[in-house]
Amino acid sequence: MIELSNVSKTYGSGESAVHALKDINLHVPKGTIHGVIGLSGAGKSTLIRCVNLLERPTQGSVTVDGQEMMRLNRSALNQARHRIGMIFQHFNLLTTRNVFDNVALPLELMGEKRSAIQNRVLPLLEMVGLADKAKQYPAQLSGGQKQRVAIARALASKPNVLLCDEATSALDPQTTGSILELLRDINRQLGITILLITHEMEVVKSICHRVSLISNGKLVEDAEVGEFFTAP
Ligand code: ADP
Ligand code: ADP
Repeated sequence: MIELSNVSKTYGSGESAVHALKDINLHVPKGTIHGVIGLSGAGKSTLIRCVNLLERPTQGSVTVDGQEMMRLNRSALNQARHRIGMIFQHFNLLTTRNVFDNVALPLELMGEKRSAIQNRVLPLLEMVGLADKAKQYPAQLSGGQKQRVAIARALASKPNVLLCDEATSALDPQTTGSILELLRDINRQLGITILLITHEMEVVKSICHRVSLISNGKLVEDAEVGEFFTAP
């Protein structure tokens, strides 16, 4: 479902060049939850942003759902991005829009009719447990509730891939647990492939099928979660 082949990413050039990713090969099969773990500065965020081309790799290729992302023109790339949801550490909600209108945003951008939007948004709010908060504004919500809104928004365009960039790092352990449970349900019930990055072992242990360890821009290990944590 997600394939990175020989992906490298260098920021800047000459003396100030930073080699954030070095020859990364990563394969995430359809329907799995794959974690990428590593220290701060290891290249996790760059890696996940290369999947939907929020960052463009300097070298290599990125294939998502059979499409070679770097070959797509602007409009085809926008289409492809509808199939790739993303959530972030700090939720990235629009503070001037209420919960319903945050979740509706991607559908509005796709030109959906108001009735279609209603029919899509309400079940999504049910699914994330926020049906009674539709009219509230982000400032009125807890961190966990904000992330639930962001998850509903990410699912609005019916993606088959969900990218999670430190999605629980701003949350307390209990809230983290409930968000991870929701992600697990989304994976199981909707069959959505999940790629997540985190610096927390616990996150990987609790929901990932496979895990890659990234260090200094290189993938240094790739294993089943069970193997990874029992390795000598
Ligand atoms: P992580 O997500 O694991 O903390 P990042 O992908 O954010 O790692 O960063 C990897 C390396 O790339 C770091 O050395 C970081 O300083 C550098 N880096 C990240 N983004 C940029 C950028 N936009 N410009 C220059 N250097 C960057
Ligand atoms: P533009 O092409 O005008 O630069 P984009 O549509 O590429 O705008 O992206 C605008 C912003 O929307 C990006 O900076 C990013 O934060 C967000 N974004 C784009 N694609 C996605 C996606 N698939 N999932 C989540 N956020 C996205």
